[in-house]
Amino acid sequence: MESNTVTAPAEYETVIGLEVHAQLRTRSKMYCRCSADYASAPPNTHVCPVCLGMPGVLPNINRQAVEYAMMTALALNCSISDYTKFDRKNYPYPDLMKGYQISQYDQPVGVGGWLNIEVGGEVKRIGVTRVHQEEDVAKLLHRDEGGLSYSLVDVNRSGTPLMEIVSEPDMRSAEEARAYLVKLHSILRYLGVSTANMEEGSFRCDANISIRPRGSEKLLAKVEVKNMNSFRAVFRALEYEGERQRKVLSQGGRLAQETRGWVEAEGKTVSQRSKEFAHDYRYFPEPDLPPITPSAEWIAEVRARLPELPEARMSRFMTQYGLPAYDAGLLTESRDMADYYESLIKAAPGLSSKEMANWLAGPVAGILNTSGCDIIEFSARVSPANFTELVGLVGASVINAGTAKSVLEEMFGSGKTAQSIIEEKGLAQISDTGALEAAAIQVIKDNPQAVADYKAGKAQAVKFMVGQLMRLSKGRANPNMAAEIITRKLGEL
Ligand SMILES: [Zn+2]
Repeated sequence: MESNTVTAPAEYETVIGLEVHAQLRTRSKMYCRCSADYASAPPNTHVCPVCLGMPGVLPNINRQAVEYAMMTALALNCSISDYTKFDRKNYPYPDLMKGYQISQYDQPVGVGGWLNIEVGGEVKRIGVTRVHQEEDVAKLLHRDEGGLSYSLVDVNRSGTPLMEIVSEPDMRSAEEARAYLVKLHSILRYLGVSTANMEEGSFRCDANISIRPRGSEKLLAKVEVKNMNSFRAVFRALEYEGERQRKVLSQGGRLAQETRGWVEAEGKTVSQRSKEFAHDYRYFPEPDLPPITPSAEWIAEVRARLPELPEARMSRFMTQYGLPAYDAGLLTESRDMADYYESLIKAAPGLSSKEMANWLAGPVAGILNTSGCDIIEFSARVSPANFTELVGLVGASVINAGTAKSVLEEMFGSGKTAQSIIEEKGLAQISDTGALEAAAIQVIKDNPQAVADYKAGKAQAVKFMVGQLMRLSKGRANPNMAAEIITRKLGEL
């Protein structure tokens, strides 16, 4: 009997497109005057008849939200539509107060854009299909207690402005998808249009992932993956899903069109619902809102508000500060980090710009990692003036680099200046010849084997003895002077 399933393990390629929902950082909600700053508010306190979905109320368009979406579209190289309108997307769900969401269907704010990603040293252009405007839904809180399971509704989030950014299916690996998200995230943060905080849900990503025989245009089955709450989760989920689809085929199975959810704890995707019966949202134009027809002047005015974006800033860092591409890329990924770097350069123009970059990429990155703080919190405790003072003290040999790292940690912990910590703890480097000579004599006396090694021609032995001297001085000896004096003393033996 002949099988009609694909059994040959042909070479498949992965095709990925991403849909990102970002909450916009406006003061009020999308279609009413309620405050959009609900994060720490008690449930159902930021509500009004409009966002509660009462019958007979009239929505209004939030101008700031529209401009934020326009800024995003422009930053993503989209063209801004000169006629954009709102549409009702109908579906029944308890978190959707009106029974429909006001979204945009066929005439979004911006279309036809792109952004560049870099993976494995190669730059690739990923198409951005569209940027459109919509509103968030209420939050359901599911409870299970005393044998009862029930759900509570918090309407505070209902009607807060959302922007959806849809990519072309241009990505071919989980790594490319992650690079796209990191870049998009960075751009939104640069623009200041969204906090883009993934853990808090203000930057959410759904992925469409399919495989197809290499060279073919036809996708085997469209699978949507949801519930990914970090860049790492997106990467792992897409890696898993690409492999899963290949495995199903290689075992003679058939791929289903479906929505799958990422289960972080188990490291796998599970089927949530079949897409064989696609939703019919019955889109139709929102009759209560006028279309928007942005004039060329308005678009130009919004474009003029765009800040320097990560790519431009990276190449400026390379030319202006003579940084290698790697350092410049690292520093400009976050606008806050790039700002802090430039404030350091400004505070002490005499210091080496590369050395400052090394401090941020090394010790500072380490502190941020262990403390879980961001660079804003760091700069609140370690001002540019204090930081550059510390680096200057290393340059002037007042402390050595090893001590400087622990002083920086202390500065971050206490907010004190480098100078005061060095004085309080007596950390200043010992450059006093007399003290170093005494220490050198002690080290030579305590380590006869190393002395014998040195005499036998092992140059390494000096390094060992310098290490002993550093230990003796609790890390405070000037290491160059210590090496010099030990070598001299050994010569005198
Ligand atoms: Zn409201």
